[in-house]
Amino acid sequence: MKIASFDGGKIGVVVDDDIVDVSEACGVVPGEWPPVGPVRLIRDFDRLRPVIEAAIESGERQPLASVRLETPVPWPNKVIAYPVNYHAHGREMQAGYRATNQGFFLKPNSSLSGPADAVMLPNVPGREVHHEAELGIIIGRTARGVKREDWADYVFGYACLMDMVVRGREERVFRKAYDTFCPVGPWITTADEVGDAEAIDFKLWVNGELRQSANTRDLVLDIPGMIATASAVMTLQPGDIIATGTPEGVGEIRDGDKVRIWIERVGEMTVEVVQGTEGETEVFSQPYVPPIIKQA
Ligand code: MN
Repeated sequence: MKIASFDGGKIGVVVDDDIVDVSEACGVVPGEWPPVGPVRLIRDFDRLRPVIEAAIESGERQPLASVRLETPVPWPNKVIAYPVNYHAHGREMQAGYRATNQGFFLKPNSSLSGPADAVMLPNVPGREVHHEAELGIIIGRTARGVKREDWADYVFGYACLMDMVVRGREERVFRKAYDTFCPVGPWITTADEVGDAEAIDFKLWVNGELRQSANTRDLVLDIPGMIATASAVMTLQPGDIIATGTPEGVGEIRDGDKVRIWIERVGEMTVEVVQGTEGETEVFSQPYVPPIIKQA
């Protein structure tokens, strides 16, 4: 099942090139704040599935092209992200560590954006903003201390995810926290439809030029390991998102670019890049590589 958010917080199921509004069947109130309807839907999905399936049969179909898709989980408990999780990307970044010995970081929920939202470049002259194509995992159940072999019981589904970043040596979260720096979508494809997520192809293009192409079998810390590691530290909640790391081929995005991501059996989306006027900070007026200065 492909579950989308659209047109101001409605919940829809994508069927072929159409979408069926199942908000009412799921008890989701479009426009509510905070927008936690998708989180409740994920928590209650086992109970709601037959209700949703009936609503698909009886509901009115609208062409997918006639609606505005939004990020599928706009208000998760957290967005977890694994750094340097493909060896070839580690080599291109000259990184001396991997996700297996660094752990994870968090992206703010406020950085989430949807397939129809532009990525707004901050006003940081002299800095490059890079794309990172990633498989996004959507957690399905509350979990702590998940064993590797049990990982699949806790995955609700998958989505395309881009982890945007201002390159530099400053605090990683700071550089990855800007609004619209975490496009997720175009919907969640439930785990049963994706099948073996540990060996799926994914690609990213900028203006039609292929920049990244990889398979999740090349992850350094694999999906069971990512769920075990995150849940060893934190209680995972339904709707939590894991950004699984990017392969080699990261590069700059500029005003006017169109960035397309495709993940096998999950979906694809294209987001526009727009130069914004906000986001200037004292931090990014400093040198790119801060010198190490011994202080008395
Ligand atoms: Mn990343």
